[in-house]
Amino acid sequence: MDSLHKAADGSAVDLDQPLADQNRKKLAVAIAEALREAADDVATQVEAGVEVDRLTMVALGNIADEIEAGLGAAAVESSDAAIADYGLSVSTDLVNEHAIKWAEERAAALITSSGTGGTLLDTTRDAIREMIADAVRDGTSMRDLAKQLRESFAFGKDRAQMIAHTEIAAASVNGAMQAWIVSGVVKRKRWILAEGACTVCQANADQGEIDLLQEFASGDMGPPGHPRCRCSVIGITKDETMKQVMFA
Ligand SMILES: [Zn+2]
Ligand SMILES: [Zn+2]
Repeated sequence: MDSLHKAADGSAVDLDQPLADQNRKKLAVAIAEALREAADDVATQVEAGVEVDRLTMVALGNIADEIEAGLGAAAVESSDAAIADYGLSVSTDLVNEHAIKWAEERAAALITSSGTGGTLLDTTRDAIREMIADAVRDGTSMRDLAKQLRESFAFGKDRAQMIAHTEIAAASVNGAMQAWIVSGVVKRKRWILAEGACTVCQANADQGEIDLLQEFASGDMGPPGHPRCRCSVIGITKDETMKQVMFA
């Protein structure tokens, strides 16, 4: 029944396609370099008494275009794969346009080109705020605080890799979803759990099939449900009646 199910539904989004893989590695390197540069910048600003909310990270803003391009390429690769996998009769140009628009919006939400806004900046500021609070509590010197900032997870390689992984996974899933939405034949979706997935992802998978445009229990339209999530999603093309017939 598994193979029958797969044939009827298309296939789960492949998170490790060649371009996605390549762009994930490239982005991880670019983000790591930008974070390292931003750490020096932030340390200088903190030492100069700049408030956390006013901290800028120009180095991150400088790679906004690169992030957008990497996400766009991975999203388009995935929408092309979805069109082929599901045999969708759609305009590839139109789907790609949607995928690229998604990438633009995602990249802009992550970091503005000025390096003064976006979720990447917000989460980094939150981490800095905590480190400053700890430093005040412990009576850490400004010099040691600057050192702690530079050596923290917030500005480290591991975080760069985590961000690249999460963002490229989102690009792959959303690229496929744009193709599904435009096609009009993919009506429903199902969360595909990664091995060893957490309870949040488990709850999404437990929902079974839901409407394509509905959010999963976690509030996400599809994976990743959180940083480092390895889950995928499958689009369902058959309506309820046809499925009952098929699996009767
Ligand atoms: Zn999870
Ligand atoms: Zn997951």
